[in-house]
Amino acid sequence: MSADLTNLLDGYLVSGEGLVVDNPATSKPLATVRDYSTGEVTECVEAAAAAFPAWSQKTAKERSVILRHWFELMLAHQEELAQLITAECGKPIAESRGEVAYGASFLEWFAEEAKRAYGDVVPTHKANARIIVLKQPIGVVSAITPWNFPVAMITRKAAPALAAGCPMIVKPAEATPLSALALEKLAREAGIPEGVFKIVTTRNPAEIGKVLTTHPDIKKISFTGSTAVGKILMRQAADTVKKASMELGGNAPFIVFDDADLDAALDGAMASKYRNAGQTCVCANRFYVQSGIHDAFVEQFSARVAALSVGDGAVEGIQVGPLINAAAIDKVEQLVDGATTAGAEAIVGGNRSDLGGDLGDNFYQPTVLAGAQADMAIAHAEIFGPVAPVFKFETEEDVIKLANDTPYGLAAYFYARDLGRVWRVSEALEYGMVGVNEGILSTEVAPFGGVKESGIGREGSRYGLEEYLEIKYCLMGGLST
Ligand code: ADP
Repeated sequence: MSADLTNLLDGYLVSGEGLVVDNPATSKPLATVRDYSTGEVTECVEAAAAAFPAWSQKTAKERSVILRHWFELMLAHQEELAQLITAECGKPIAESRGEVAYGASFLEWFAEEAKRAYGDVVPTHKANARIIVLKQPIGVVSAITPWNFPVAMITRKAAPALAAGCPMIVKPAEATPLSALALEKLAREAGIPEGVFKIVTTRNPAEIGKVLTTHPDIKKISFTGSTAVGKILMRQAADTVKKASMELGGNAPFIVFDDADLDAALDGAMASKYRNAGQTCVCANRFYVQSGIHDAFVEQFSARVAALSVGDGAVEGIQVGPLINAAAIDKVEQLVDGATTAGAEAIVGGNRSDLGGDLGDNFYQPTVLAGAQADMAIAHAEIFGPVAPVFKFETEEDVIKLANDTPYGLAAYFYARDLGRVWRVSEALEYGMVGVNEGILSTEVAPFGGVKESGIGREGSRYGLEEYLEIKYCLMGGLST
């Protein structure tokens, strides 16, 4: 790694035993960081509980000034943070720069929202009493985050928590602890104490996850990751009735109706599917295209996909980087092979990429599969790779049924111009977020989150602060005596 990057990790790299971080593009080790034990994490929880009173008693404006400083430091170090993200997670460098800006935007947003945790005065039910509603920070919060947005998934949680007055302990994914540690270094520089924001890195997510979901000093767990792990964490958190925010898996439909603007739909499809090599929970997973526009869509989509440049994300201009690891490649390969064996046709791609040179085995060709059917595994699994299965449909009624036929409900997209259809379909889709004639939904100003088995709670926007606040009702009586 370059000297700039090692500066940002000064004090965090260890030699000998620890958590080894690989570069997914080369499959070679990048660095080793500390492997926290359960005892050490318990001490971090106690330190957070000890830090809670002083942090929560600061004025909102004092917390806001510190968060704003952290935001500015992130942007000042945007390039180094982006290079760390690309090195450990593989995403193209331009996308990593975008992630840093997106991640920082939550610090800016919640620095402002910190000052707006308003309570209420409720019209009274008794002449000599008044009803006051206070908003107070929940307490210490733990967070467990994934590798696909290793910076933004941390700030999207830490910014509202810290703004509300809650300390946070974060366990990043094993694959991507480096950018998380760099973020912690900048937090210290901004004046955030160790007890208030702490990153704990580990090789044993299950053991550390147990501490973070069962310790009585923790009042809430915020998780982004798979539905399977989210369910484990909710079960573990049940014994102490912790609050939970869960951002879980998705199976996003991307619907193109006959009346769609075809070019706009193609732009949206490319952005929604191939960002981060298809490894986002809001990535289009199933393309439903109405019969009148189907053939033109498949032809033009395939031409665009065939032109994507695949390679090491650190190289400027690369559009599709590696998948995170060998298991991810195996899963994508199985899903594509299953679909083609059952009759789907790979119009482009359909295989692993062998790029040679220093590049390892984690690359998969950007793929478009025509003739996908509802009974194929690829219609039900989160693909998490650069593969677009296309399903042909006939009527609006049919496609709504197909789109909702999943336990997930995170993001959905559709392209149409008829206003009546736009309203009908927006309301009928059982999803937390719907992109209408738009392929990218994420922004700090809007509520991100899912319904059904895709999760609980919302992140970003003014609703995001509420997730870290408790409501206290005070009845003030005896006022007329
Ligand atoms: P993905 O498939 O995206 O890797 P996971 O849900 O496995 O999704 O991982 C998301 C996060 O959950 C990571 O930080 C990982 O370390 C953590 N994790 C995985 N298994 C457990 C577990 N049993 N307990 C706590 N955290 C876990």
